[in-house]
Amino acid sequence: EQDGDEAREIAKHLPFYPFKGIPRFYDIGGFLAKPEVFQQIVDIFVARYSGGDLAIDSIAGLDARGFVLGPPIALALKVPFIMMRKAGKMPNTISSNAYDTEYGKRSGLTVQRDRIKEGDRVLIIDDLVATGGTLSSAITLVHALGGTVVECACVVELKMFVDPPEGSGLPSRKRLFES
Ligand code: 5GP
Repeated sequence: EQDGDEAREIAKHLPFYPFKGIPRFYDIGGFLAKPEVFQQIVDIFVARYSGGDLAIDSIAGLDARGFVLGPPIALALKVPFIMMRKAGKMPNTISSNAYDTEYGKRSGLTVQRDRIKEGDRVLIIDDLVATGGTLSSAITLVHALGGTVVECACVVELKMFVDPPEGSGLPSRKRLFES
């Protein structure tokens, strides 16, 4: 259920964090403290990507909360887990360009070159999608190494960025579909 009690447990929202311009910060820490909720989330993703049209060769998790969510799903599906990290943390990487997010500009993500092979079917995982800037950046890395993005999976979607009102100044998530 999208906005019920369970959803509120998964992502409590706090006003004005990490700074004043942000009306709400969705804290996904809640489900980590509840093994039964965490397990339910993992099971939903495992069922979705366990075969058929959505079968995957690997999971790329985004720094940092994608590193928490991705590994249990990768282990259950018996596929490799790939880290997409901020620059300067791993050897032999390629980098994406700097990108815009809900919080402003961020320097690009990196991935190790040998983790994705031509034709690999990759699932990208993060905790939350706001403007889609972070996921778009991850998509360009998979494509640069010749892989295909099967889907991007998140636990929380901030709907206000799907089609922001004219003049709101919020970036639209439509760019996700252009990348
Ligand atoms: P986007 O690139 O879609 O604008 O922002 C998504 C990225 O910023 C994700 O990596 C996510 O972890 C982080 N982020 C943005 N807003 C929030 C939020 O309200 N809560 C959490 N947990 N992460 C956020």
